[in-house]
Amino acid sequence: MTTSPTVVARETYHAVIGMEVHAQLQTVSKMFCSCSADYWEAAPNSHVCPVCLAMPGVLPVINEAAVEQTVRTGLALNCEIAPFSVFARKNYSYPDLPKGYQISQYELPLCHDGWLMIDGDDNQPRRIGIRRAHLEEDTGKTIHMDGVSLVDLNRAGVPLLEIVTESDLRSADEAYRYLVKLRTILRYLGVNSGDMEKGAMRCEVNLSLRTAEQATRGEYGVKVEVKNLNSFKAVRDSIAYEVARQTVVLDSGGSVQQVTMGWDEDRRRTVLQRSKESSEDYRYFPEPDLPPLELSSEWIEAVRTTLPELPDARIARFTGNYGISRQDAEVLTAERGIAEWFEEAVRAYEGSPREVANWVTGELFALLNTQEGDITALDLSPDDLAALLALVDAGVINRNTGKRVLAEMVSTGQPPQAIIDAQGLAQVSDEAGLAAVVDAVLAANPDAVAKYRDGKTSLLGWFMGQVMKETRGKANPDVVRGLLAKRLNTQE
Ligand code: ZN
Ligand code: MN
Repeated sequence: MTTSPTVVARETYHAVIGMEVHAQLQTVSKMFCSCSADYWEAAPNSHVCPVCLAMPGVLPVINEAAVEQTVRTGLALNCEIAPFSVFARKNYSYPDLPKGYQISQYELPLCHDGWLMIDGDDNQPRRIGIRRAHLEEDTGKTIHMDGVSLVDLNRAGVPLLEIVTESDLRSADEAYRYLVKLRTILRYLGVNSGDMEKGAMRCEVNLSLRTAEQATRGEYGVKVEVKNLNSFKAVRDSIAYEVARQTVVLDSGGSVQQVTMGWDEDRRRTVLQRSKESSEDYRYFPEPDLPPLELSSEWIEAVRTTLPELPDARIARFTGNYGISRQDAEVLTAERGIAEWFEEAVRAYEGSPREVANWVTGELFALLNTQEGDITALDLSPDDLAALLALVDAGVINRNTGKRVLAEMVSTGQPPQAIIDAQGLAQVSDEAGLAAVVDAVLAANPDAVAKYRDGKTSLLGWFMGQVMKETRGKANPDVVRGLLAKRLNTQE
């Protein structure tokens, strides 16, 4: 929980929130040179060259794959793709920025005016406008230790996609859902790893409060920015904190200052970083070392054909065509790999897709939780799951044995029939054989039999359990239930 100030608001304030996300693109090389973009855990300053070290006289070259990934993302976010866009210099000075400027885009971004649907707090679909998505380069990293500051430029020049929303978000939870949705889409597109711990997505929030009356007049409050949020939870917590903090300021008759804040995870509060800089401070101007980027409509349309089926379309198809619940469909489409694995199993299985969904979201995910695994990394093929379900349907094994066999399949990678054969797990449906077991159980428990016949019919389940124990879980439960009912309900 956030340790927000306790608020008894005199006014009801409505939050107006915009979000900026910096997402690292998954290219092989950096944005403007041929250095490897895979800098994680590499020796410091080992992925550098004269271009990303900003040596005099060098020239940048645009990475086509980064442009392609940006356009792909723009199309998935329903953006207009600019046929003509321009790189710009954003000038500022910092030790991890050797050039003294960042190559970014300013007036003419690659993608603009898109949207993304999320579930609003009222459970109704909410359209979140995407103002722009532009391409830029990452900075290096400054590491402060033992009284010195060290600079590692391996990350300098890694392609970054900056995605900026309109101020359409209205709460901490909406902001959180927006980020989860965006991350899912970026991972579907294969343009970002979504790995927050490695800084693959970094978030900035801008937020202001206004009264309902101000809203009807189309007025806005003073905007505060919160920067360097490295987890979605930090985004949610910092918004909740700022709403509470600004409410206190406004209620006491004060005014909110336009500032840039950071989030202190340990103290669980926002902290002042600096008074707000404006875009004029960066002295943006068109990058003289790069030509404008011109994209033909044919090329853009060719990129469009590479778009995968996105999560929303997939959820609609899973609920519509397969008849599975929306909740299951959401879980099954959260990762593209899981969705594709599930569909392969559905294709391989002759029964209902809902049955496959039940086994995957129930049994299989429970097994994965204990192993912290990912379904696609398992030594379990969709075909083998389909084969297991067919064996349960055919009565070769009962459902409970099926669960045991699945666990064995996951840990050994063996197909189901091999496990059933090796462990002698095939279901016993033979009536004569099972009747002998039932009789033995009844003979061994005369007291329970008497109680049952005295009216305690709930003991039937206990008798079932005894027979299952004797047959090591292999008995056909329908046959056993029939035999028990017949024997117990016939007074001797
Ligand atoms: Zn380089
Ligand atoms: Mn940026």
